[in-house]
Amino acid sequence: MNKSRISGLHKLSIANRISKLEKLGWLSSDAAKNLRSGRHVIAEKAADKMVENTLGIFGLPFAVAPNFIINKRECIVPLVVEEPSVVAGLSAAAAMARVTGGFTALLSESLLIGQIHLVGISDVEVALVSLREKLPQLIDKANGIHPRLSARGGGVRDIEYKVLSLANEVSVVAVHILVDTRDAMGANLVNTICESIAPMLEKISGGEAALKILSNLVDRSVCSATVTYRVDDLMSDSMSGAEVRDRIIMANEIAIADSYRAVTHNKGVMNGIDAFAIATGNDWRAIEASIHGYAARSGHYSALTKWSSTTNGDLLGEITIPLKPGIVGGTTSSNPAAILGIAIAGVESAVQLAEMMAAVGLAQNFAALRALVTSGIQKGHMRLHARSVAMAAGTPDRYLDLAIQRLVASGEIKDWKAMEILQDLENKQAGHPTGSAFAAGKIILLGEHAAVYGRHALAIPILDAVRANATLNDNKTCLTLKEWGLNTIVDRENQSGVGAVVNTILDELDVDNSKFLINVSSNLPRGMGLGSSAAIAVAITRAIALCIGADIDDERVNAIAYACEKLTHGNPSGLDNTLSCYGKPMLFQKGKPLASKALELCNPLPLLVGFSKNTSLTIDQVLGVRSRYDKNLSQYEAIFDQIDEISCRGSRALTAGHYEELGRLMNICHGLLNAIELSTPDLENMIAIARDSGASGAKLTGSGGGGSMVALCPGTLDKVRSALHQAGYETFQSHASRGSMS
Ligand code: NAD
Repeated sequence: MNKSRISGLHKLSIANRISKLEKLGWLSSDAAKNLRSGRHVIAEKAADKMVENTLGIFGLPFAVAPNFIINKRECIVPLVVEEPSVVAGLSAAAAMARVTGGFTALLSESLLIGQIHLVGISDVEVALVSLREKLPQLIDKANGIHPRLSARGGGVRDIEYKVLSLANEVSVVAVHILVDTRDAMGANLVNTICESIAPMLEKISGGEAALKILSNLVDRSVCSATVTYRVDDLMSDSMSGAEVRDRIIMANEIAIADSYRAVTHNKGVMNGIDAFAIATGNDWRAIEASIHGYAARSGHYSALTKWSSTTNGDLLGEITIPLKPGIVGGTTSSNPAAILGIAIAGVESAVQLAEMMAAVGLAQNFAALRALVTSGIQKGHMRLHARSVAMAAGTPDRYLDLAIQRLVASGEIKDWKAMEILQDLENKQAGHPTGSAFAAGKIILLGEHAAVYGRHALAIPILDAVRANATLNDNKTCLTLKEWGLNTIVDRENQSGVGAVVNTILDELDVDNSKFLINVSSNLPRGMGLGSSAAIAVAITRAIALCIGADIDDERVNAIAYACEKLTHGNPSGLDNTLSCYGKPMLFQKGKPLASKALELCNPLPLLVGFSKNTSLTIDQVLGVRSRYDKNLSQYEAIFDQIDEISCRGSRALTAGHYEELGRLMNICHGLLNAIELSTPDLENMIAIARDSGASGAKLTGSGGGGSMVALCPGTLDKVRSALHQAGYETFQSHASRGSMS
């Protein structure tokens, strides 16, 4: 007998797994060959004959859970499932059960019920007497329908009758034909019997056969399985074995009492049974329907398993479920993957398959309960999820373990993170040139929009707000920006969004034929007027320049970022990219040399940014102001002149540390921005809250129309922040160097 205990199977590549199973005798050489060549997958032609309107073949992982002993037989379980942790959980549960001899399962009777519902009977009692009298003739007739089934030792075993009362007090006789379908599930076999015997039943009863079909509640084919886990083996990192045992028993009792929990508990059972049923070509909908119906047979939907303590303190598990799978018939013989599944399971009868399924359901339930009461279900899930994410990101085998570890440790099991980790690992391995750079965001204190019309604006940077990392890549340019959920391949077709920005940068740097992996991370919320787009452009430009060893100065970086800003915002003032690039407080004026604008501050500004509930697109606001400006030219010009003066006075107040004066100017500036229709009720609310809580000034910042407000809060920062939080607004504090959200 082959040993099913195979450790480390999960660490092998698919090719090596197949070879190992072939070597151990679990796969024939033909089966191994088919798996390697993909010939185990059903052909399109065959699929087209199976169901209507076939378009192609749908793929799912075909896996195995090793380590099982069921009824003293070493066995491995084929599984078709997409959910991580099912296979791992089963394999571990099977391995742990080996010391006590594995699983014992028993299916003593396996009959499928065919139902014929007789209606319109004038005297039900008389009809029942006649039907019972004719039992031998009825059984003979039914068995004559499938002579080969009888020849195989199967056939109709008995016929039972139930009288049902419908709502309108109409009586119906439900005839139950109990059929031993041998190694077939038997749905079609039994349906044929039902249809063929119906006329005879009608004649005997004087009624009419309304329905003629099998019942999927296969409670004449109920299988039980048991397993014992040694209490010492249950021990976890933080719990004794006895504690884990008691928690599993308690969890089980909860599932027995609470239907909401029972459904989830039983779903765990079905994770294994369904996967096994699919892998062996069985009708898993029929299996599901039957088992859930059985779980609710008392009128209360309850757990299918029972966990208790043995007299010596070990954990005893039991499951009792209806199961009527087949190893012949249906698609079991027309789907090569199902043939392979049955061969891997090594079952020789449908009864053996049912017993194996019950054991698998019990093992899966144990795996889920143990995880649930110890580390929590997510830990194992996360590792397996991390594995599939890392693999989907193209992580080669040599890095896989390391990448999974780092993914799990990062707490961010996402495709962008997997790509970042892969990139890092590959850089270290291949010594690929890499560039990494930061860029600043910005907070406008005074003068937004007026800056587009050549007036001064006063702004301070949020240092190191965006970081970009670029690495030369062989075949394509990929961009990930985790905070925006972006993970995209950039090609020349990208005419908008960040893809277009990357293309502009590549063009400007004259490296449009090179490919890069670009990872960006941003502390700045999107669409909140803090200059995130400019900062991204600056950081990427610098990172790529560093990566290719291009010596470009800030002025050039600024010009490239401005080109990107024009793509994003139409007609920007250039303030955002300039602030981002130079990272200095400044009194900005479009087109003026920077040297005349950079300011030195004695102390960090006590600024708080509050986010309104709506983001805002700068391009929309700039266009809106432009259209109103065109209609109200003189008024708008006068307003912009006032804002210009305010910005210049504000810059003097800022450098001198006169926060009361600066705050007052901010308030006036907000009034003027409101006059040109940039404020919103939400912004007004936040501004009022900030001022009421002691801010010396508060105004919208950035494009307006949503987005953010900024408050100057000397000595009142905490109070303003907490008032805004209480009102449900998020805030962002710009420290001396970096910003942070709260
Ligand atoms: P089937 O129609 O293929 O019949 C089984 C065949 O296998 C018979 O021809 C039988 O002679 C042959 N056979 C060979 N060796 C056998 C053995 N050792 N024991 C028994 N039969 C043997 O299959 P089925 O099992 O009657 O029906 C299963 C199919 O019916 C499934 O595909 C299922 O999806 C489908 N179905 C289900 C429902 C339902 O669940 N409500 C209803 C209709 C059809």
